[in-house]
Amino acid sequence: MKNIYYDNAATTKVDDRVIAEMIPFYTEHFANPHAVHSQGQIALDAVEKARETVAKFFNCENQEIIFTAGATEGNNIAIQGVVNKFKENIHIICSAIEHPSVLETCREMKKRGVKIDYVPVDENGVVLVGKLQKLIKSNTVLVSVMYANNEVGSVQPIKEIGELIKTENEKRDKKLPLYFHTDAVQAVNYLDCDVSELNCDFLTMSGHKINGPKGIGAMFIKKGVKFSPVQFGGHQEFGVRPGTANVPGIVGLAKAIELISSEGKANFKKVKKVRDKLVKEISKIDNIKINCDLSTSLPNILNVSFLKAEGESILMMLDMEGIAISTGSACSSGSLEPSHVLSAMGRKPEWSHGSIRISLSKFNSEVEVAVFIKALSVVIEKLRKMAP
Ligand code: PMP
Repeated sequence: MKNIYYDNAATTKVDDRVIAEMIPFYTEHFANPHAVHSQGQIALDAVEKARETVAKFFNCENQEIIFTAGATEGNNIAIQGVVNKFKENIHIICSAIEHPSVLETCREMKKRGVKIDYVPVDENGVVLVGKLQKLIKSNTVLVSVMYANNEVGSVQPIKEIGELIKTENEKRDKKLPLYFHTDAVQAVNYLDCDVSELNCDFLTMSGHKINGPKGIGAMFIKKGVKFSPVQFGGHQEFGVRPGTANVPGIVGLAKAIELISSEGKANFKKVKKVRDKLVKEISKIDNIKINCDLSTSLPNILNVSFLKAEGESILMMLDMEGIAISTGSACSSGSLEPSHVLSAMGRKPEWSHGSIRISLSKFNSEVEVAVFIKALSVVIEKLRKMAP
């Protein structure tokens, strides 16, 4: 039996064309890009060419792109960087549905005396911009709202938030600006990422969510933004992210981005078609709830709740059939707490406990749907029979 991989929001298969691009930077051009000899210069040229590709994709200047080890690191650099710069009596706002790499960093900042507010979302997991506006204070230095949510796929009104922050800055003393950070990890594959239109100051992304390698990411930091680095020990990446550059990773990330530029629109249509087919078939099972507005959400994430069936049990039983999905709850940590995202959306525990996330990529096909639905229907029936 062939495995079905429906966990692409967790990580994706590296595209063969990305691997092909990376290999020479392990086998031949492996020199340190920060060395002065000509072999090092070949590696450095590749890094700078990759920076140009990434900058073009985000429509920014090359110097505004920093290569990181991934989005967790990027999110830490943005949030801690702003806190380290402004330090005293400051306030941060983030959404209630952020990834733990934002939420937990904010929690740490709270221990350093920073005030944090969480902006709520509606029942479809979309940030309430009116509430956000009311939360902004004269000492708010950062708003962090993700571009698209990783659990339910809801797309956030980033442009609107960017405009709001721009207007707020026009009224402000330049000494205490208000910055806007967006975690665009799940958006890069499918949504327009022109930073001049998004009006953000920081944007973070990750290689392994876009059919690129793990352990590499990139972030946009707008020219002139004031922040303090959180890591020290080298001049690399303009001193923002010191350490020897991950050349194969950087080259691979740029190739993955190049593929999105050329194939992204076609992939959007392809995954949406598979997702729509899944929705049609899943809707034949009774007592289910789709956890998002599918007309506006990402095309590749489908989060669905089954009444009287635990998400964890569904996951494990599908796993025995060679099918990989994930649950809506934060169970990767072994906790059985309901998902903070579904709770923020107002889902009752009986629904959020029975939620699963099916996340697709360009490598999924419509052919898999029938196999999946057959296995899922059996699993749900079994679990519901066993339910007290
Ligand atoms: N933000 C979001 C929205 C994510 O989905 C993830 C990955 N689960 C991250 C941040 C962290 O990315 P990385 O694995 O590159 O650190």
